[in-house]
Parts: sequence; C-alpha cells; structure tokens
Amino acid sequence: MSISRIVIIGAGQAGANAAIELRRRGYEGAITLIGDEAHPPYERPPLSKDALVNPAGAKLFLYPEDHYAQQNIDLRLGVRATAIDTAAHRVTLSDGETLPYGKLLLTTGAQARRLAQLDDLGDRVHRLRTLEDAEHIRAQLRPGSRALLVGAGVIGLELASSLTDLGLETVVIDPAPRAMLRNSPEILSRFLQKTHEARGVVFHFGTGVEAARREGDHLFVTLGDGTELEGDVLIYGIGVAPDDALAKTAGLHTVRGAIVVNERCVTSDPDIYAAGDAVLQVHTEGHHQRIETWENANLQSTAAICDMLGQEAPESGVSWFWTDQCGLNVQFAGEMSAPRWILRGALEEPPFLLFGLNDEGAVIAAITVNQGRDMRPAKSLIAKGAKIDPAVLTDPATKVRDLAKEI
Ligand code: FAD
Ligand code: NAP
Repeated sequence: MSISRIVIIGAGQAGANAAIELRRRGYEGAITLIGDEAHPPYERPPLSKDALVNPAGAKLFLYPEDHYAQQNIDLRLGVRATAIDTAAHRVTLSDGETLPYGKLLLTTGAQARRLAQLDDLGDRVHRLRTLEDAEHIRAQLRPGSRALLVGAGVIGLELASSLTDLGLETVVIDPAPRAMLRNSPEILSRFLQKTHEARGVVFHFGTGVEAARREGDHLFVTLGDGTELEGDVLIYGIGVAPDDALAKTAGLHTVRGAIVVNERCVTSDPDIYAAGDAVLQVHTEGHHQRIETWENANLQSTAAICDMLGQEAPESGVSWFWTDQCGLNVQFAGEMSAPRWILRGALEEPPFLLFGLNDEGAVIAAITVNQGRDMRPAKSLIAKGAKIDPAVLTDPATKVRDLAKEI
C-alpha cells in the first residue's frame, strides 16, 4: 500500500534525519516536516561546545535550508502542531491549517527540566537546550567573571570546559556524589573531575541549592551544606523531560511523560510512530529504555521510516555516545553500569581505554579517551560478548583491532 503523505512533527535531529532518509530510501510521496523553532533543523551537540567557544566555526545545521526544498520536503518552521485527530488522520497546526497524513512520525524531543527557584532570578539564569539559549548564554560570558553551574551531568561538564576555555571562573554544584553519575562509571567520573579541577573548576558534590537571590547583576546561592557562593551568571542542566504533550492529548499511550513505542517505533496507534528523546521504547522481551543521544535519534527515526516503507531497518548495534571536554574526546559504548572496569593505559596520560566487564568476565562496555580509533573494534568485542583474559585486554602491545578480529 503506498502512503500518500508522511507528516513529521518536530524538526530536530530525529525529524530531519527521517525526512531526508525517506527520500534517500526512495519514498516519492509528500513529506511535511513541522518545527516550532524558527531555524532549519540544527544539531544540539555543538551548543555546549563550539557554539560558545568558537561560534564562527560551529557546524550547527544538519543541511542547508534549500536542501529540503531540493528534496521536495515541505519544511514548515515556526509553527507548532497543536492537535492530532487520529480517527480523521489529520494534524492541526498553530496557524490554523490542518494537514492530512497517511503515516505520522512524532519527534518532539525533550525539554530541559526547570527549577522555578532559579528561574525566578531572571535573565542571568539559563538552561541550555536551544540555539537561542546558547546565544543568550554567550552574550553574558565575560573573561574573569564567575559562572555557577548547577548539575554535573554532561551539560554541566561540557559547559565547565567551554567556560573555562573562555576565561571564566567556574563552580559546579550537584547533590550527587560524583559527576555524570547517570552515564559514566566512577573511575571515569573521578578522572574527569580531576581534569577539570586541574583547570581551576571547583566542584561541590553531595549538596544542592538551598536558597538563591539576586542583587543587581550578582547572584548569591546558599548550598545545603551552608556554603555561600556568588556568581555573575548561573546555568543549570539537571536533566530533561520528554515532550509527550501532543501524544498525550491525542490519546496515545505515554508513561512518565514519554511516548511509548515498540521495537519498530510504532506507538499505540498503528499509523503513528515516534522516535528520539521523546520516546520510551519497550522491547518484546519486556525491558524498556529511554536513550537521550544523537545516535539514538538517528537510529530510531530511521527504524520508524523503514517500517513505514516496509524496508529492513539497519541493525542498531551497541549504543554509543560521546562528549568533548577539556580537550578530550570521550566515547562511550555499551552498559555503563558494568560491575567491573579495567584500564588499558594510564589515567594520568591519555589516550587510554576502559573496558567494562560483567560478572562472567565478558566485555559489555568500553570507553575511549582520545582513542576514538579503537571504538569500532571495542564495539565489536561488546557485540560478541568477548571473554578475554584482562591481562591481554589491557596489554598495550596487543591491538584492540586484532583482538576483535580473533573473536
Ligand atoms: P530534539 O533535537 O529536541 O528535537 C525536537 C524538536 O521538536 C524541537 O525542535 C522541538 O522544539 C520540536 N517540537 C516539539 N513539539 C513540537 C510540536 N508540537 N510542533 C512542532 N515542533 C515541536 N548527544 C550526544 O550523543 N552527544 C553529544 O555530545 C550531545 N551533546 C548535546 C549538547 C546539548 C547542549 C544538548 C541539549 C543535547 C546534546 N546531546 C548530545 C543530545 C542530543 O542532542 C539529543 O539526544 C537529540 O537532539 C535528540 O533529538 P530529537 O530529535 O529527539 O529531539
Ligand atoms: P543529565 O546528564 O541527566 O545530568 C543532570 C545532572 O543534574 C545529574 O547529575 C543530576 O543528578 C543532576 N541534578 C538533578 N537535579 C538536580 C538539582 N536539583 N540540583 C543540581 N543537580 C541536579 O542531564 P543534562 O546534563 O542536563 O543534559 C540534558 C540532556 O542533554 C540529556 O538528554 C543529555 O543526554 C543531553 N546531553 C548530552 C551530551 C552528550 O551526550 N555529550 C552533552 C550535553 C547534553 P542525579 O543523576 O542524581 O539526578
């Protein structure tokens, strides 16, 4: 059965990838890509990195704006989808238009969580999710001034790195006991903390913001342990909330704010798919996961459109993401909750590699630090559940690529 029109709601990483992949895979029907932001689809990873430190060199946009027209993709910017009539197969837009769809893809992403206590302090307090957020932040960064960063997750650490590069004094606050608790093993968290500290960043772990006030352009924060801090700008990154608003009002199944999809990225309505940060994916064997990464947005949106077209989706493989901070490129693959980690190389002298092992000694995770070329063979070891003597795995004389070939 041919689909006459596919509508995609959310023109971010997943939405733009889906539109372009549809054409690449030979779909000739109508494609409408609806985005409520004013810009053509852009990538968020540079927002905490080059967009602050080197805005002229930052590569933000996924494709030049005219590429969408060239691909006969109807890109609607600055307009929000406000309702879905699932029975009539129509989407209502904020400008009053309604559009018919054969299949619909929701790629509505996530929003940075809010802390009203901090927002109340006004325009020297920021979150970082959009290009506008990055521009507002950049406009207030002055060398020698002090930034308070609330949250020591990936955003907090990447900002600490960028702001230090720009000559700001930087303080990071998190009630957790260590940095990147959610997606890094302790050995790497401690390494990253030391690396930042060597550049002058000060961390306050195990305590949160108890009270905050503003006097003129100065911000004053009191932590739970009684510490008083002063800053000129405050940026908080305390996780995201998936955006299920539209899906919920359309009566689709959602759980804890996320749109529930199956392994093929189909929602509770067989003609509506969802992909990316907005999604909770339930697998047939019962486990479910939310993945908030650039790679996942691309993989899930590709899987969704392949299913619409009746094509085989590419294997998703071992999950992967990266962070760039303090001049280090750190790549992560597999299960960051691995119970045992072994080090190949020396923490004091990057490059190095960490392997995560399960209780049976199989490789289930890997982290490369300035050693990205070993990531592909490391992923292959994870995919194969390789059991290799740790002395061999950590022996720098043995190439990871040779180990992967031998398995
Ligand atoms: P989004 O990119 O959030 O796109 C969703 C879009 O839908 C948004 O434009 C939103 O405004 C729009 N929308 C929502 N509702 C509607 C509606 N009703 N109508 C119209 N439009 C709507 N990941 C990595 O793997 N590595 C990194 O280094 C990395 N760095 C990051 C740095 C920052 C600062 C941030 C914020 C994220 C970073 N990520 C990184 C995460 C990665 O960017 C996200 O996982 C990815 O953007 C998710 O893509 P998405 O398309 O699901 O959502
Ligand atoms: P995150 O990685 O989930 O980290 C949030 C951090 O804030 C956690 O350490 C969390 O601690 C802490 N926190 C929660 N409540 C807090 C509070 N009230 N006060 C202080 N700290 C608090 O999320 P993020 O760093 O905000 O990033 C947002 C999104 O961008 C995520 O989807 C992330 O994946 C994405 N991103 C990715 C990259 C990358 O992959 N390189 C880079 C930047 C952003 P607990 O864990 O204890 O709750």
